[in-house]
Order: sequence, then C-alpha cells, then structure tokens
Amino acid sequence: MSKKDIDWSNIGFGYIVTDKRYVSEYKDGKWDDGILTEDDKIVLSECAGVLQYSQSIFEGLKAYTTEDGHVVTFRPNLNASRMVDSALRMEMPPFPEERFLDSIEKVVRANLDYVPPYGSGATLYIRPYMFGKNAVIGVKPADEYQYRVFVTPVGPYFKGGAKPIVVKISDFDRAAPRDTGNIKAGLNYAMSLHAIVTAHKEGFAENVYLDAATRTYIEETGGANIIFVDADGNLVVPKSHSDSILPSITRRSIVEVAKTYLGLKVDERYVTLDEIGAFKEMGLCGTAAVISPVGKVNDHGREICFESGMEEMGPVTKKLYDTLTGIQMGHIEAPKGWIHVIE
Ligand SMILES: *Cc1c(COP(=O)(O)O)cnc(C)c1O
Repeated sequence: MSKKDIDWSNIGFGYIVTDKRYVSEYKDGKWDDGILTEDDKIVLSECAGVLQYSQSIFEGLKAYTTEDGHVVTFRPNLNASRMVDSALRMEMPPFPEERFLDSIEKVVRANLDYVPPYGSGATLYIRPYMFGKNAVIGVKPADEYQYRVFVTPVGPYFKGGAKPIVVKISDFDRAAPRDTGNIKAGLNYAMSLHAIVTAHKEGFAENVYLDAATRTYIEETGGANIIFVDADGNLVVPKSHSDSILPSITRRSIVEVAKTYLGLKVDERYVTLDEIGAFKEMGLCGTAAVISPVGKVNDHGREICFESGMEEMGPVTKKLYDTLTGIQMGHIEAPKGWIHVIE
C-alpha cells in the first residue's frame, strides 16, 4: 500500500474521484449481492424516479487514521439505522443495516491509499446513497433502486483554527411540520439551495431555521444541528415541536460526552428565538466540522452576540470539541461501540 500523492492539508471539501465504489441493485423485490466496481458512472432511464420525483436519500460519515495508525469510522451503526428510517419514510426498500456496514468497510478497504494520514486534519468522507432507478411517470414509488457508496478525501474543515461564524435567521423554512425534516433526503437540500445562496450573498455563513408552524422556536441550520451553552455553563439542545430536526449523530454524541465525560447538565428542550441572547455560546454540529462555533446571530438586522466573541470557540464548546475529537482520534477512551476499526 502506498498513499496517493495528495497534499492532504490543502485539499478542500470537494469531490475527488477514488478507485472503487460499491453498487447494489434492487429488483423484483430483492437486493442483489452487490459489487465493488471501478465504474464511477451511472446509466439511467430518462424517466428514472429520482430524476422526475426526487426519490433519493443519503448518509454521510468519515473514515480517518487514529494516532496509533488504525483506520476507523465513528458510530457507523447509527448511520445504518438512520438510513433505514429515511428509506421507510420515502417508500424505498431499506438496505439491511449489516450490509450497510459491510459495504462501507469494503469501499474504505478498497481505497485505503486515499485515507488521509493522522495529523493532517483531512478525512475520507463516505457517502452512501440510494435512489429510484426505473421509469416512473405517474406519481408513485419506483420498483427498482440502486444503493451506492463512494468515498472522497476531504480537507480539514477548519484551516488554521475554528474561527466563529456569523449566521442569520432565515425567512425561508427548511421543513414543514411532520414532514421530511427528520430524514436525510436530497429533497430537503434541494429546497434549501435558494436560501443558502441568498444568505451567502448577504455575507452570512449559514441559515438558522425556525419552526415552520409558529416561527418562534430554533430548529437547526441547513446541514447541522445547533447547541447552546447557558449562563450556568450547561448544554442546551433545541428540541422540535414537530419532529422536523434531523437526528444528528454528532449532536447525540456531544450530549453523551457532555453528561458522562464533562459532568455537564444537558437540557434538551424547546428553545425560542427570543431567549438565545441569554446564552453564552452557540455551535453548529455535524460530521464535517464536528462543531463550528457561532459568534453572532443576525435576526433581521438585530445582532445577537455571544460572550465567546468572534475570535475563538467558547470555553465549553472547546471542551466538548476537544473531548469528542479526542475520542475519535484515540487519545481518550471511547464509550463501547463508538469506534469501528476497519484496518
Ligand atoms: C446530516 C445532517 C446533520 C448532521 O448529522 P450528523 O449525523 O451529525 O452528520 C444535521 N442536519 C441536517 C439537516 C443534516 O442533513
């Protein structure tokens, strides 16, 4: 094995084609055995269900090299079960969880030369996804599906330290109450593109979405859940009235780390926009960045500034970040089952 000649610390968050990917086809009511292939192209009917009615779901996780040289993934069983939930909600045949785990291992093993070395800050991003494949013109679920996994090396999310970002309260909604906000479906992102382009044009890094029904409560951003630290130094995690927040694995892990490693009180509750000015720290959490600190929220010109400021992560956020990344990288003992060793 020899690592690819890649400048690991200077690659961005883009797509780089790798050697092998996994493909399994669903037809006549069952999944085939699946293969690893070098073919990175998909040939589809012009009328494929995914092209006409957006029947597609995905997952995102990463493989990385720990300090002692193992290649591991973080809690991939939770991605497997979340993808089953997404499939059921989208009337797609779930890909069996044990096969999901096996397919990820196969693709990572087949692309080991693309797993960034320890200390580079880069990781191998893993993208499992599934879509309706056969021709569908009347509105209904497809009968045939394709499940695929590819991997692509991605650069360190934060170059030169995690600088706090400024986010805005969006005038758009991300997910209707009791709709698809709690599953990982491409359609949730398609509808968010206009909102994120608008926010970027205005100079904001992300949109904070409120609950669509009352526009009172904080839900999440376009691709990350939100955490706050209150005046007593405890963790406050927004809950959704209408189950429209995506159940982030990073956020669920942060909650466990806060309780069991840092002894913090964790309040998972409804959080109103009106009260966030009283919080000391805010962060966005997801697989890519783990935690991105937020320095300021802009609510239609009114600035809500957190005590942690615009220079660095707040102290509690930093502790959470260091502990969780320490667990991931193998400096801190992980809870049972969190680190899945591939090599
Ligand atoms: C994927 C995703 C997240 C983050 O989830 P992780 O499991 O932590 O990566 C948060 N919000 C949305 C809308 C997402 O799609």
